[in-house]
Amino acid sequence: MAIFVYAESHDGKYKKAGLEAVAYAKAVADVAGDTVTAIAFNATDSSEELYKYGATKVLKVENSALKNFDANAYAKAVAELVAGDVVVLPSTNDAASFAPLLSLKLNAALVTNVEKAPTAVAPFTVARKAFSGKGIETVAAAGKVVVTVLQNAFGVKENAVTGSEESVKVTVTDADAKVKVLGVEFAKTGAIDLKEAEIVVSAGRGLKGPENWGMIEELAGLLGAATASSKPVADIGWRPHAEHVGQTGKAIAPNLYIAIGISGAIQHLAGVNGSKTIVVINSDAEAPFFKAADYGIVGDAFEVVPRLIEEVKKLKGLA
Ligand SMILES: Cc1cc2nc3c(=O)[nH]c(=O)nc-3n(C[C@H](O)[C@H](O)[C@H](O)COP(=O)(O)OP(=O)(O)OC[C@H]3O[C@@H](n4cnc5c(N)ncnc54)[C@H](O)[C@@H]3O)c2cc1C
Repeated sequence: MAIFVYAESHDGKYKKAGLEAVAYAKAVADVAGDTVTAIAFNATDSSEELYKYGATKVLKVENSALKNFDANAYAKAVAELVAGDVVVLPSTNDAASFAPLLSLKLNAALVTNVEKAPTAVAPFTVARKAFSGKGIETVAAAGKVVVTVLQNAFGVKENAVTGSEESVKVTVTDADAKVKVLGVEFAKTGAIDLKEAEIVVSAGRGLKGPENWGMIEELAGLLGAATASSKPVADIGWRPHAEHVGQTGKAIAPNLYIAIGISGAIQHLAGVNGSKTIVVINSDAEAPFFKAADYGIVGDAFEVVPRLIEEVKKLKGLA
């Protein structure tokens, strides 16, 4: 049973979510006793990136009609290349929006928001997050299946294989795009996508008020990090909801998560415990977050963070 995966890229570079989907596809292939074929559109990154996460074959498509995302065109192109029973997609906005179209074109079942490898592939039996993350549903899908992997849930797990690439063509043209992109304007240049970030500096109610976020942004800027927050902070309006991480917010899995003035409630941990290294700064030595931390500093954020900033500046030769 060949396993296919859509390796999403942006501006030619593979997205972290795309690599995670490849890693998930490899886990499916291990259950199925088969290999992974990755589909890549207009990627300039080396295919080595995909072999590293378990793709034995990479189908590379160069097609100007796929330069801008369009759900119809992407679903058509992926459907033309799939020659197997399982297709894995990340659950990015783009991939999640063409997954239903793809499942229609392939006459396949659609299983969204999976976090773990399936326990069986025929039928495809897997647990998925349901009810806005409040429950786990186990489903079995017979026949072909399109699967979307919840971002930052499975993890970008390395599983290197020897691979090869092949340039392939699809029949998609500009006429297949239902939506034409007329122009792109970014709201904030330089902002780092929280879900893709390798370092995240996050803060909670311990910061006392929105006026104190300057030092959080400064530290994040110095580290090349994205900023995040606990839920109450977003609920009160101190920070935008897009920054809220946790069970009801975004799930993230950066290499480094720095939590400042956050207690570490189970609902917060649910969205960040996939992080490789967790650093906690909290004035209360009994804060539950310390139990999940790799490194902890018991101290007042208003003293510790400025000193951290100073040290990072020194390391970067800025002070
Ligand atoms: C159904 C449900 C879903 C939820 N989903 C989420 C979610 O997705 N994400 C989420 O974050 N929460 C979620 N929550 C809320 C969660 O239970 C906690 O209430 C919340 O995470 C607490 O936020 P906090 O740590 O910022 O605030 P607090 O619990 O008030 O903690 C503040 C922390 O700051 C420390 N502190 C205070 N002053 C300082 C200082 N000067 N320096 C350093 N440390 C200091 C304190 O010791 C304390 O540990 C959910 C709750 C429910 C019921």
